[in-house]
Parts: sequence; C-alpha cells; structure tokens
Amino acid sequence: MLEMFGITKKFLNTLALDQVDFSLRKGEVHALVGPNGAGKSTLMKIVNGLLTPDEGSILFEGHPKIIQSVEEAQRLGIAMLPQEPILVPDLSIAENIFLGTEETRAGFWLRSKSMKLESKRLLKILGFRCNPNTPVRKLSYSEQFIISIAKALSVKSKILIMDEPTSCLSEDESGRLFGVIRKLKHEGVSIVYITHRIKEVMQICDRVTFLRDGRNVATREVAGMSEEE
Ligand code: ADP
Ligand code: ADP
Repeated sequence: MLEMFGITKKFLNTLALDQVDFSLRKGEVHALVGPNGAGKSTLMKIVNGLLTPDEGSILFEGHPKIIQSVEEAQRLGIAMLPQEPILVPDLSIAENIFLGTEETRAGFWLRSKSMKLESKRLLKILGFRCNPNTPVRKLSYSEQFIISIAKALSVKSKILIMDEPTSCLSEDESGRLFGVIRKLKHEGVSIVYITHRIKEVMQICDRVTFLRDGRNVATREVAGMSEEE
C-alpha cells in the first residue's frame, strides 16, 4: 500500500527524521509509538502532503510518489482524522459528511436523497444506526467522532491517520471506536494509529513502529508480543 525508505527531514538545526523506513499494508492497523518529539507528526505530515521529505523515497501502491499537497493526498485516498471532530453543529449528519466534498462543490445539493442514502450506507459500515437528518449538536462526542470517520470514508480514503484518537474518549467510547476500526479493516482501509498507550497497541494494532529521536528503533508484529517489551 505504502512504503517509505530513508525518509529524512530537517527543521533548521533539528533533525526531525533521520533515515526512517515505514510501511503500511492494506487493511492493517499500524501503531506509531514514541515519546514527544520523536518525529511521529512529521512522518505523518509527509504521508499527508503537509511536508515533503529532504531525502528518501515513497512508493504508493507500488509507484514512486512524493505527495506534494493535502489535496493530492486526498485524491490518492489518504486522510488524517482531526484529533477532535470538526463538524458544523447545526447541520445534519448527512450534510456534515458531505460538506466540502467534490459532490457539494459540484452543486450536488446537500439535501438530496442520494446523499442521505450514501450517509446511511457509510454509517452502517461503521455500525452506527441513526437518522441522517439529525443535527450533529444532538450527538455525543464519540458519535461525532464516528461522523468524522464517515466523512473520511465518503471521499474513499484508503489510508486513515488517527492521532491519539482515544485521548478524549471514555473507556466505553474507546471500545466503540475499536469496533469501528475493525470494520474499517474489514473494508480494506489501512490505519496509522499514533498512540502512547501500549494497551491499545496490543488490543487493536497488527504492527507497531517505535520512533525515537527521529529514528525507527523497531517495527514488530503485535501478535505474540508481550506488554513488557
Ligand atoms: P512527535 O509528533 O513525535 O511529538 P514531531 O514530529 O512533532 O514529534 O517533532 C519532531 C521534532 O521536530 C521535534 O524536535 C520538534 O520540535 C521538531 N519540529 C517539528 N515540527 C517543526 C517545525 N515546523 N519547525 C521546527 N521544528 C519542528
Ligand atoms: P504533537 O502533539 O502532535 O506531538 P506538538 O504539540 O508537539 O504536536 O506540536 C504542535 C505543532 O507544532 C505541530 O504541527 C508541530 O509540527 C509543530 N512544532 C513542533 N515543534 C516545533 C518547533 N520547535 N517549532 C515550530 N513548530 C513546531
């Protein structure tokens, strides 16, 4: 799906990434773990087109590709979930899902029936039953989080980057998010899961990459790993 080799990024005197290799398989949840300043955000900004690397190469679906902008990342199907859902409270669930997409830019009016049907389909994939006419302000925080995932799916994202997605969720809500993540995997979506919670790595991730001081210290399969490692 995505392979990165020897990625290096410097900011003035800071070597934020030093020859980092990273790969993402189709339908895997890959945890990215490391202390503050390790380079996690910088690496993901390169995947998402917010930054370009100084050195290194990237293969996307087998083709060499340095992603030059967020728009290009979106076209390729790469999306970063905002850490907190950014939705318009007074608009409906369906309107929020399609706001800012090609369809609405092309004048495909927000209240159309096909938009509602498509919203229902996306939310069903995520296991969330609701009336797509409901204004978003009536939803709980975790439900709004699910809407922002549906929004990413509506533009056919193949890679979703989640930056500490459970930091504002309760234990129950996190459990619900993990259910959603399993469904996304089933749909073949690849997920980069930035976290510092090893318990969550063990619970839902397939592989884990440890970054420290801008270097990839290790990439491991989670199956068979123990929490002490
Ligand atoms: P993490 O996400 O793991 O906390 P970052 O990728 O944000 O790490 O940061 C890696 C290093 O690069 C840190 O030393 C950070 O201060 C530095 N850094 C990140 N972004 C910038 C920037 N825009 N300008 C200067 N230094 C930066
Ligand atoms: P995170 O919680 O993702 O690690 P931070 O709170 O460390 O993010 O950084 C917030 C933002 O500031 C990020 O976009 C990062 O790239 C940028 N940043 C981090 N360190 C520096 C720095 N030394 N100079 C300029 N920007 C920085």
